[in-house]
Amino acid sequence: MSRRKIIAGNWKMNMTPSQAVKLVDELKDLVVNDAVDVVYCVPAIDIVPVVEAVKGTNVKVGAENMYFEDKGAYTGEISAEMLKDAGVEYVIIGHSERRDYFKECDCVLNKKVKKAIESGLTPILCCGESLEQREMGVTMDWIRLQIKSDLKDVAADDVKNMVIAYEPIWAIGTGKTATTEQAEEVCKGIRDCIAEIYDVATAEAVRIQYGGSVNAGNAAELFAQPDIDGGLVGGASLKADFGKIVNY
Ligand code: PEP
Repeated sequence: MSRRKIIAGNWKMNMTPSQAVKLVDELKDLVVNDAVDVVYCVPAIDIVPVVEAVKGTNVKVGAENMYFEDKGAYTGEISAEMLKDAGVEYVIIGHSERRDYFKECDCVLNKKVKKAIESGLTPILCCGESLEQREMGVTMDWIRLQIKSDLKDVAADDVKNMVIAYEPIWAIGTGKTATTEQAEEVCKGIRDCIAEIYDVATAEAVRIQYGGSVNAGNAAELFAQPDIDGGLVGGASLKADFGKIVNY
């Protein structure tokens, strides 16, 4: 089955609203590629100006996080409905930085995935192992656990439309990319896990990205792998290099 590639930038906590609009403008002509989906996942405060700035381009906007409740006394949080209403189409859920610094556990992430889907947002669900886990040889056991918990009670048809990002923690922001073989092995393992939980059709449909120090030099080889359907890109999404990655 041929899946459409999806290349998403994760801006993290970078870019003020005015810097964000400037960056979108600078990248505008570089990120044109009708053969792939291009997404900018931006800080909450940048969503409204970035949605406006990408109008008329091929770029879609994503959020970096959301809360699972509909509304109410949750100071500082942002709901799926708010994101949707602002023009957001994707939302990163369970990035390792949120799991680590903000102690987001799988049961919370499962609620977020379900709420995102119910609200018409496409989740980009992140999973990945630490260096210690890789060295202990438990990478796939750990990732299976994350996938099974985060997708608990999520219907097969919804999984088909979502995105899973495999991001080895040791490769994020370190300049240390997983080898093509390591990245493909785990992305295939994730697909096998989806086939096991659901069925082969669901596994063949779900898009699985690799993330972790993707750059203009390694994107083509990574994205050529049969089970890697694009990338989640941190640091390199904030520079002209992102255009090269999109047009790998
Ligand atoms: C990320 O933040 O999801 C990421 C993969 O970062 P980087 O590309 O900088 O490693």
